[in-house]
Amino acid sequence: MAWEGSKKFYEEACEVIPGGVNSPVRSARAVGSTPLFIKEARGSRIVDVDGNSYIDYVASWGPLILGHAHPRVVEAVKSAAERGTSYGIPTEVELRMARMVVEMVPSIEMVRMVSSGTEATMSAVRLARGFTGRKKIIKFNGCYHGHVDSLLVRSGSGLATLGIPGSPGIPDEVAQHTISIPYNNLGAVREVMEATGREVAAIIVEPVAANMGVVVPEDGFLAGLRELCTQYGALLIFDEVITGFRLAPGGAQQVYGIMPDLTCLGKIIGGGLPVGAYGGRRDIMARMAPEGDVYQAGTLSGNPLAMSAGLAVLQVLRDEGLYEGLDSKAGYFSRGMAQAAEAAGVKVFQTRVGSIGCAFFTDRMVRDFETAQSSDTQAYAVFFQEMLKRGVYLAPSQFEAFFISAAHTAEDLDRTMEAARHAFERVKELRGM
Ligand SMILES: *Cc1c(COP(=O)(O)O)cnc(C)c1O
Repeated sequence: MAWEGSKKFYEEACEVIPGGVNSPVRSARAVGSTPLFIKEARGSRIVDVDGNSYIDYVASWGPLILGHAHPRVVEAVKSAAERGTSYGIPTEVELRMARMVVEMVPSIEMVRMVSSGTEATMSAVRLARGFTGRKKIIKFNGCYHGHVDSLLVRSGSGLATLGIPGSPGIPDEVAQHTISIPYNNLGAVREVMEATGREVAAIIVEPVAANMGVVVPEDGFLAGLRELCTQYGALLIFDEVITGFRLAPGGAQQVYGIMPDLTCLGKIIGGGLPVGAYGGRRDIMARMAPEGDVYQAGTLSGNPLAMSAGLAVLQVLRDEGLYEGLDSKAGYFSRGMAQAAEAAGVKVFQTRVGSIGCAFFTDRMVRDFETAQSSDTQAYAVFFQEMLKRGVYLAPSQFEAFFISAAHTAEDLDRTMEAARHAFERVKELRGM
């Protein structure tokens, strides 16, 4: 495989874009290479500017649960664009989207659309503070909630990949109101709540953590958070930007049977266009301007192209019962990876919930950020490169999920497992683990 075109674009991009990328996770530094530049994509495949084709398990980092360029989505965007790309005045499609979200997500009675997951979590935190009149926010190490000042404390995703705890540019005065606790450690949450629970505006959590690899919530963890929030009058915010519409029509809250007060959505809800949303209990959401006094706004919020694309995806998800198929494909993928690793004598800890999961290159059981970080990231880098050479595109970081879409075929999965058998053998040779 030749990558001259991507390398040339990357060099040029580095002159005018910091690091050559518009989001740090796209950099391939952690796996010792440079990013691909993509020309086009369809179904489960992406094609780079050099004409190499890959089976894609990144899926734009989660949004593309139906695969690339799904005909219903393409048609929805085209027909919306022909009628104008934005008005800044309400449209029927926004109403239909809101109704669809309320219908699908168990805890959402009212919803507000924004343009990214970051905007959704930022607004939900502001609303929680406005509603409770409190300042403190509890989050979990290795969870990522977008690049919101108050939430960029011991975050996952790109920060985990680059090994940085936080970011310059965030005043201590802002960060001091955020308490970050190990994931799955209910005892630690209880201690903090006993000490300062009446000052806590909200606990925000990824119900399945998917930005430090994929870490599964242990029995009772989410229910315990619900209980503590209720007891101390704090709001429970589920950041379902990845898990929403991914694990079930109603997201992780449906799977685990927990009702958060507020829910943040993103990724799938935009069908590959820039969308986020936050919603929840009517009495809380009614505090948003212009009905209430908590302010949040957006020039392109509820944009007709984005709403049309997102609504097309949600309609397919609601009507076509794709979740069983996604689950069985992802199960096949996970088992195949674990077996290929074992056959090569490489230790991995494989996690999965529904159509997301992760193979951690570690012999420890991964239940939080600390154990996730015990992974051999050099071994992952070898694995990534070997898979790439064989036409499989995985996330260029150990601390990200694989995403199975409805477009992945049995043949795609078998080809991927064949590649994985070779790749794990190379890992064994080069890393001896
Ligand atoms: C991606 C992500 C975000 C941020 O969404 P953006 O659209 O990138 O701003 C927030 N929370 C979680 C859980 C995410 O995975």
